[in-house]
Amino acid sequence: MKFQAIKGVRDILPPESALWNRVEQAAREVFQTYGYGEIRLPIFEPTELFARSVGLDTDIVSKEMYSFEDYETSEVIEHRNAVLTFPETVSPLDPITPFRSFSDLASRFVSLAQEALDAGRIPRTPENEAVLRLVGQEVGQFRAYLQNRGIAENNLLVVQIKERVREIKFGDVLALRPEATASVVRAYIEHGMHTQPGNVKLYYIGPMFRRERPQKGRYRQFYQIGAELLGPSDDPSLDAEVIEMLLDFFARVNLHGAKLYINSIGDKNCRPAYVELLRGELQKVRDKLGADSQRRIETNPLRVLDSKRSEEQPIIDRLPHIADHLCDACREHYAELKRQLASRQIDYEENWRLVRGLDYYMRTTFEIIAAGLGSQNAVCGGGRYDGLVELLGGPAATKGIGFAIGTDRLMLSLQEAGATAKCGLEVYIAWMGAQAYPAAVALARKLREHNLSVELPAQEMKFGKSLNLADRLGARFAVILGEDELAAGQFTVKRLADGDQRKLSEAELLEYLTKSRTA
Ligand code: ATP
Ligand code: MG
Repeated sequence: MKFQAIKGVRDILPPESALWNRVEQAAREVFQTYGYGEIRLPIFEPTELFARSVGLDTDIVSKEMYSFEDYETSEVIEHRNAVLTFPETVSPLDPITPFRSFSDLASRFVSLAQEALDAGRIPRTPENEAVLRLVGQEVGQFRAYLQNRGIAENNLLVVQIKERVREIKFGDVLALRPEATASVVRAYIEHGMHTQPGNVKLYYIGPMFRRERPQKGRYRQFYQIGAELLGPSDDPSLDAEVIEMLLDFFARVNLHGAKLYINSIGDKNCRPAYVELLRGELQKVRDKLGADSQRRIETNPLRVLDSKRSEEQPIIDRLPHIADHLCDACREHYAELKRQLASRQIDYEENWRLVRGLDYYMRTTFEIIAAGLGSQNAVCGGGRYDGLVELLGGPAATKGIGFAIGTDRLMLSLQEAGATAKCGLEVYIAWMGAQAYPAAVALARKLREHNLSVELPAQEMKFGKSLNLADRLGARFAVILGEDELAAGQFTVKRLADGDQRKLSEAELLEYLTKSRTA
């Protein structure tokens, strides 16, 4: 049996991982200069956290989440599994015995489940209580009817009881995080961070999970670098500074040709009226839209603007723009954002269709498009989410803004533009002779103390073969250590790029190697 990484996930290997590290390190450095500190978050959270914040009618929540029920194996779980896997066909020769054992099994399950529910080992929700009561009744009926029913009727009851048992929630429903803003806000509330002076500025780096159709730039485990600013103020200069930080980072990693798009999607004062207007307009052209967009007329008309279907484009082009329907406060906020961006010499383009796929955004939204990525070309999305802290049970006055960079796509774009990371091996120690080995071990230790990357072959090799391997490993230098060198108390060092060779004492060697590293 051969194992392979599952669909949509992948390994990031050296030397590519070195490039990833360099990019993540650049984010740490740049964000730190803006006063952001790292938050390390759990990989899984209650599914409800994402459902509440990201929104039910989003692709992420409705179809992309890796959700699972979290419970410990126990007697009640074992009985549940036995009930669920009970065979539904029985031999006409002996129709009663198997049903009798099902009835015993199911009764035992009901009493164990009731005990567990009373003790709180199964979530004590009204739903669970109601379902368990029904299962109890059905199992009682099954037992009472067992004698007089035929195989078909009994099987029908078995199926019905199984269905019912499936409805019981045995543990918390958790999900692998599809994004991290919800977790940051959850942590902000949980740790009472609103009492901290000034704004709370946090960044995170790590994997996210969405069950999407895998393709270039779209994976089921992908990585994000994100930052969030939470606090009492929604001043547009904060939005501009967040964008400035983002562009600083992109400049630091040499991402060229990135384009910034901005929009404002209003707030709870003006957006509802615009959404109604949009809904009305969409209803007029309903039959020209695809099934997804038709559904969204009811559930979330803004998302129609997100559509990439070519036949819908001419229709969407004629829809009313939100910019013409913002309330005074939102219009002024947006205008000031643009002034703030201009005063920071930040180029942007307005895109009235930029609504973002998550429910929590309001007012400022932005996106960055990079080169070399085909249709998965958004490397970063972000925006303001002033109501989210309140929605998740935190202080109502807290405002927030943030972004998430898709690291996988950023790396693809950088690599497309020629970025590579070289093998980091600096020194290969080619040794020969039993006495040379301890000297080679001692030298390796000394060099590593000076932060040089050293390869020390475990087995003796002829110098020719050893140097050949050093070359193939991409080492910059080979240090040759044989009987001659031991006798002379010197090392022969060969620069592999041009064959330059010299004999040096240990002190000279150290100086030579550490100097040439920075050169
Ligand atoms: P898209 O428009 O590509 O579906 P999105 O709107 O779902 O992106 P966000 O949830 O805003 O994206 O996430 C921010 C960034 O994370 C995106 O701009 C993108 O770079 C990256 N991203 C999102 N989903 C994936 C994925 N499945 N694989 C790789 N990167 C992703
Ligand atoms: Mg998406």
